[in-house]
Order: sequence, then C-alpha cells, then structure tokens
Amino acid sequence: MTAVEEETFVTDTPTALAEPGEQDPTAAAPGAGAMIVFESVSKTYDPHVVALEAASFVIEKGEFVFLVGPSGSGKSTMIRLLLKELEPTTGRIIIGGRDLGRLPHRKVPQLRRNIGCVFQDFKLLSDRTTSENVAYALKVQGESRNSIRRKVPEVLGLVGLTHKGNSYPDELSGGEQQRVSIARAFVNHPPLLVCDEPTGNLDPDTSVGIMQLLYRINRSGTTILMATHDREMVDKMRRRVIALEDGRIARDERRGGYASE
Ligand code: ADP
Repeated sequence: MTAVEEETFVTDTPTALAEPGEQDPTAAAPGAGAMIVFESVSKTYDPHVVALEAASFVIEKGEFVFLVGPSGSGKSTMIRLLLKELEPTTGRIIIGGRDLGRLPHRKVPQLRRNIGCVFQDFKLLSDRTTSENVAYALKVQGESRNSIRRKVPEVLGLVGLTHKGNSYPDELSGGEQQRVSIARAFVNHPPLLVCDEPTGNLDPDTSVGIMQLLYRINRSGTTILMATHDREMVDKMRRRVIALEDGRIARDERRGGYASE
C-alpha cells in the first residue's frame, strides 16, 4: 500500500487522520462517519460581510450533491472552508471524521490530498503536456517515479484521453482540458471530489460528457460536491441539491432541481 492510500480518510475508523495512540476528539460526534459535516457554520469577512450563516448539513460518503445559489451566496466560501483555506467564525466542520478546528497545521496538506479539486478555468500548466500535468500533481505529493509511470496512463484511460497524453493544453478543446483537470484531481482516487463550476466554460454537449464522467467517478464510490449554475444539468440529474441564498441554506432536497418548485 502506498503512503497516500494509508492516509486516505475514507475509512470505517474516524481516526484515520489521527496519530497512532492519539485520541480522536470527534469519535463520538454525530455524523462522524459521514464525509462532510457542517454544524451551524458561519463565516463573516472583515468588517461585516456575512458570507455564511448558521449552515448545517451532513453529506454521507458516496453522495453526489449540487451546491447552487446566485453569485455571492456563499458557495466559494463553503468550499474554501472545507479545504481549510479559511477558518469559520463560528461552528464546526468535520471532514472524513476529522474536526477541522482541531486539525493541526501540519496535517492540512494531508487533508487536501484527500480532496480532489476541479475548477471552472481548469488551472492547467500551459507549458506541460497532458501527461506532465497529471504527473506534476503526483510529483509534488512525493510519489515515486514508478508509481507516477503507472498511475498517469491509468487515469488518462479513465477520462478517455489516452491518445492526448502528449498534447499541450492549447492543443486541446475545452472539454478535453477539463478532462485533464479531472484526471489530475482524481489520479490518487481521493474519497472526496469538490468541483467549482466544472462546466461553466463548456458548451451544453461537452458539459454532458463531463457530467457523465463525474457521474462514473461518483458511482465508483467517490463523494462529489459540485457548485454550479448549470440549471439544465441539475434539473436533469435529480440529485441532492443544497441551495444557498445570502449565506443561508434556503433548501436541501434529496432529489432536487435548480430552483424550488
Ligand atoms: P459565491 O461563491 O456563491 O459567489 P462567495 O462565497 O464568493 O459566494 O461570497 C459570499 C459573500 O462573501 C459575498 O458577499 C462576497 O462579496 C463576500 N466575500 C467573499 N470573499 C470575501 C473576502 N475575501 N473578503 C470579503 N468579502 C468576501
């Protein structure tokens, strides 16, 4: 087993991120076996911008959840909080059984390795090929050359880009670039994939292909949280929808649509 697999936090034991012998303070917490728990989380930016207000929800392992809401409603803030890029003003966030408020600084990189991120603007390195973009992500995580050599073609196959391994981003279509960024986010099979407007720059047909890929990744057991404005996609998929309005959770529906009915 690789070091990364050992440290993956999807596990039946909520102490996966704890040191051996360390007591896990969240062990008895409600929802400790879930993937994401927000307990009355608020975030106020200086001086008085309330971006999130008393947000509470539980996302179980394996769920596919859309996060919707108008611009400025708090979606990015929520994503940055769960990556521990921001600290909540009040409330508690538990990811993979670990209370982020108690997560030591030195464990933050490990938390982020367990959360694959996909963005609207792909964030690819323009001077590197498809294979090199994916390999680079592994390299910075300290993976061995052997494991990189094995994992890159495997994940490119999964996203349908085997034939584009030597292409540079500007030689790829938007949909293909997004596939590279999904390959990069998923190459270590993180238990949680967070997608921020992944189809925002793509035409409807291409978006369908990307959604099918994300759906397939979800079916393999990965929890997906996807912030989106893609009304048609949300309505078609009929998955759980958490809707934000002015920093508050306005709606949380099991098989929801983009707008309330
Ligand atoms: P969304 O992702 O839904 O567009 P955001 O989380 O980016 O919403 O923003 C929520 C609110 O917080 C908005 O009013 C926004 O202007 C404000 N905001 C976001 N980031 C900051 C920041 N770094 N400093 C101050 N206010 C911010």
